[in-house]
Amino acid sequence: MNMPVDISILDDLRKDLSARSRELFIGGKFQPAASGETFAVIDPATGEEFASVASGDAQDIDLAVKSARKCFDSGAWSGQTPAQRARALTRLADLVEANGSRIALTETLDNGMPMMMAFFGGVSAASEQLRYNAGWATKLNGETFTPSNPGEWHAFTTREPVGVVGAIVPWNFPFVMAVAKIAPALAAGCTVVLKPAEQTPLSAVILAELIAEAGFPEGAVNIVTGYGKTAGAALVEHPLVDKISFTGSTATGKGIVHACTDNLKRVTLELGGKSPVVIFGDADLSKAIPGTAMGIFGNAGQVCAAGSRLFVHESVRDEVMEGLAGFAKSLKLGSGLSPETQMGPLVSQVQFDRVSSYIDSATSEGATTVTGGGAASVDGSEGGYFMQPTVLADTAPGMKAVEEEIFGPVLCTQTFGDDDLEQVAAAANNTSFGLSSAIWTRDMSSGLKLAKRIRAGMVRINGGAGGPDPAMPLGGFKQSGWGRENGRNGIEAYTEIKSVTINL
Ligand code: NAD
Repeated sequence: MNMPVDISILDDLRKDLSARSRELFIGGKFQPAASGETFAVIDPATGEEFASVASGDAQDIDLAVKSARKCFDSGAWSGQTPAQRARALTRLADLVEANGSRIALTETLDNGMPMMMAFFGGVSAASEQLRYNAGWATKLNGETFTPSNPGEWHAFTTREPVGVVGAIVPWNFPFVMAVAKIAPALAAGCTVVLKPAEQTPLSAVILAELIAEAGFPEGAVNIVTGYGKTAGAALVEHPLVDKISFTGSTATGKGIVHACTDNLKRVTLELGGKSPVVIFGDADLSKAIPGTAMGIFGNAGQVCAAGSRLFVHESVRDEVMEGLAGFAKSLKLGSGLSPETQMGPLVSQVQFDRVSSYIDSATSEGATTVTGGGAASVDGSEGGYFMQPTVLADTAPGMKAVEEEIFGPVLCTQTFGDDDLEQVAAAANNTSFGLSSAIWTRDMSSGLKLAKRIRAGMVRINGGAGGPDPAMPLGGFKQSGWGRENGRNGIEAYTEIKSVTINL
């Protein structure tokens, strides 16, 4: 495959990032935080500061929300025709593609992910999101009805933009997560205040520059970098915000639901997961083993839909364990800026300590380590947060590492002894989450029967890890969230329905 990222720009990019602190984007202008505060951005591959950004707080959020409100209420964006909104989104997609290398390298410096993942899972995926949602702008129609009232009536519904959207995103795929919220919101006619994660704010600042260049009206999108407890909380609590679209942890999501009760903002939540992977005895192991491995080791396991609980049939257990261990040992760990790197560091020291503590707690509760189990040493990246890809055997329900989302490269495995679908489904469903799942079998009847029984928003049969499709709904059952992103459901979540009934 050709290298799509132009790494020759890296030195200039580093110089530019260290030369000046990045600012907030409010009302179409870049400005420092009202407090004048900034915070450091750390490269997870080295543990060193390489940039800084404005630390927005409640004052800045207030300005940003008022600017989004003014833009929405004036009709400067919502009053444009759907075709005009579609064209603006397409212009932004073109700019994202034209700036692909800068975005991907910035994402790698900021998050640690391999640059090819930053390019395909970030830049390309974001441009697809923009183009897909641009297509919806002209297709958000209502329905017509025949009312049961006596007399002659004409009745129809319209879909209208929900208003000002507060979008809050996590650090694991910062650029595409931000775009996956902004694109449908703008296509529907909403205006947005985006709060990126404090660990990875930089690609959102590039997004702000591209939005300015694409010529959106002032205030259509505002981007405030800052901490969750200050900027994030202020956005959630702001009375002029109509909807919060949140992606992040289940704990923060629950807090957001409580905070939104004051003005009953609409809330959609994309939260955590503890997704099951079931390998039946008849599975094609040449595909199931690498597919399962990349489903948990891709982006160092920092993926909401990561397949983190493996249920493997006893008859193939040894072969699968050996295969997974071999795959894990063969993975090339290193800085995401090296073209050979397959797995980068964890995002932060905090995340490294969190993942380590889950491995320790599992082994103290009786799990055995098949491979990995601790820090990985990477030449030239001594201060980085590298974790070995880890497979744990003899894990069981009730263990902390099996119950809770680890968000790291740690696979908990259990075996099953017969092909009783009800038992396998019950084991897979024995979790408070319900985001994703994977099934490996040559018997499509068993595969589909199990798919029907699994209580999760996504099921993948005989397919390894892959990025989300902008056309396919993404979201979870149970404590994995409320609502869906992507597809028709995703954009409709940025609209309100109005019924209009006319007595003829
Ligand atoms: P997090 O909940 O700590 O933070 C997510 C975002 O919320 C950040 O921008 C943060 O600043 C902000 N935030 C924190 N506290 C806040 C508060 N009180 N009010 C408002 N905003 C606040 O999550 P994280 O650790 O950054 O991300 C990892 C989590 O995200 C995992 O649980 C993962 O499963 C989940 N995730 C889910 C999906 C999905 O689509 N379901 C996708 C990616 C990540």
